[in-house]
Amino acid sequence: MSGLTLALSKGRIFEETLPLLRAAGIEVLEDPETSRKLILPTNRDGVRVVLVRASDVPTYVQYGGADLGVAGRDVLHEQALAQGGSHGLYQPLDLKIARCRMSVATRADFDYAAAVKQGSRIRVATKYTEIARQHFAEKGVHVDLIKLYGSMELAPLTGLAEAIVDLVSTGGTLRANKLVEVEQIMDISSRLVVNQAALKLKRDTLRPLIDAFAAAISA
Ligand code: ATP
Ligand code: MG
Repeated sequence: MSGLTLALSKGRIFEETLPLLRAAGIEVLEDPETSRKLILPTNRDGVRVVLVRASDVPTYVQYGGADLGVAGRDVLHEQALAQGGSHGLYQPLDLKIARCRMSVATRADFDYAAAVKQGSRIRVATKYTEIARQHFAEKGVHVDLIKLYGSMELAPLTGLAEAIVDLVSTGGTLRANKLVEVEQIMDISSRLVVNQAALKLKRDTLRPLIDAFAAAISA
């Protein structure tokens, strides 16, 4: 199939990718917040955007459902660990968008440092079980991981877990729920990911696009 398919997730990644696309001469012709379409046309013939869940972007690109996509380092790292270290995606650019950090947070009245020092088992709720597993293993902290799919902040408030591993940007959500950040795990931003076969077969279309993104980031 000719043309180019770009996988994006709705919300901040979509919004923050738009200026980069614009810099590359690509205008998305419909707004995902008002349109119910999952495939959005652009002003460029054959270039289209497919809207997928944030955690599905690497899968679409890996298996060729999309030629390229934008995914957070959180999602990419988690899935690479789950697949034994790598997913064979070409990651030419850190787009420096959707920036935040992955952190450990607890209730303000939980003494995390003391629990770690005593070697206690800590129950940790997270969507990022692989990253959390690796992080605590490296620190020699004993944890029981509880997999959640959303609203991690609720876990320490209900007694489901003592700690969470989640993304933090301003800290507003943590504060609103009386949680405190006790450890930072890694800085997060979104990356461009490209399908390996597409990189070879559609090089003439892809290369200028990657170059335009690169120029727009440093501008
Ligand atoms: P879904 O809503 O489909 O379950 P999600 O909640 O992971 O997926 P978003 O909240 O839109 O989707 O997050 C998508 C990506 O944006 C994340 O993978 C991360 O890289 C980045 N991100 C998430 N939260 C923040 C934040 N608070 N600040 C900046 N970037 C963030
Ligand atoms: Mg969300």
